Amino acid sequence: MAVYETIGQRAWESIAKADRVLVVTHIAPDGDAIGSLLALGQMLRQLGKTDVTLSCDDGVPDKLAFLPGATAVVTSVSDSFDLVIVVDCSDEGRGGRVFRAAVGGRPLVINIDHHITNTGFGDVNIVQPDTAATTEILFLLAAAWGVTLDKDTAQCLLTGLVTDTLCFRTANATAGVMSIATDLMQAGADLSYITSRTVNRRSYDAICYWGTLLQSIDLDDGVVSVCASANDHPVNGDASVVSLLITAKEADMAVSFVETENGQVEVSLRAKPGFDVAQIAYKLRGGGHSAAAGCTVDGSLDEVVDQVLAMMKKARRGQSRA
Ligand code: 5GP
Ligand code: MN
Repeated sequence: MAVYETIGQRAWESIAKADRVLVVTHIAPDGDAIGSLLALGQMLRQLGKTDVTLSCDDGVPDKLAFLPGATAVVTSVSDSFDLVIVVDCSDEGRGGRVFRAAVGGRPLVINIDHHITNTGFGDVNIVQPDTAATTEILFLLAAAWGVTLDKDTAQCLLTGLVTDTLCFRTANATAGVMSIATDLMQAGADLSYITSRTVNRRSYDAICYWGTLLQSIDLDDGVVSVCASANDHPVNGDASVVSLLITAKEADMAVSFVETENGQVEVSLRAKPGFDVAQIAYKLRGGGHSAAAGCTVDGSLDEVVDQVLAMMKKARRGQSRA
């Protein structure tokens, strides 16, 4: 796409000058975060960059450890860098301790992301909210930079597309996205293996935890919700019951509330096409996409549930199904 020629050239001007490059992705990383991190690392090496560090505060979760190159990801950095490239990260806070430490040395920052709520915190911002995943942006940049994708890079890029579209089930799984997925499969990416390791895989404990959460299910005013207190022992990793809730045909929006041990509540939001939960998350200092967003809110479970449900019901009244 012609627009990526221009975007890619501008980004390349900054990358070409840099010797020491750090690539960072967001805390609590998902498949698009780690897929983008590993793919960009490989692309930069192919472009002749020999000093590239890949980092994420929380490391690579077990379920993404199958991705080629995952063992190279570090969880802290002590060196200084000329250039920091942040991927799939809507604001500086999501970059975690690693990003905070790295910007102390005043590197140039390139921000590559697809969240509509991205704050434009980079010196160079490549923010494309119309893309389905950050790996889609990287695929288009690879073409603009003349990088030939090897099998491992294609596997990482396809993983981002698969996890962010729930295996091509979201409204942003366009013909363009399917065409990129086909190119990636032709380059050697294994769709069936990726789905078997990501969207089609979770722990037995995570499924049992869905049972706990579903005991609290409620549907009111087109919003379906569940909540769990810290005593319900939240399961880390893929416990994303909210993607199940939004399949309720009666619901336009869905939300899960999970209280943490330190007096906060993790809020995961989903919306049907035509409805927008990104702006709700953004007002609560989180972020995301119109169809999927999240935030962590200070307060007791009851307070946060009341506050967020009121915001959702108010927003829903001004919106309608696409
Ligand atoms: P999930 O509900 O699957 O954890 O997240 C859905 C979307 O919201 C993802 O794009 C994710 O990056 C974003 N998101 C979730 N939690 C937060 C948060 O606390 N802050 C920001 N900025 N984005 C979030
Ligand atoms: Mn993403």
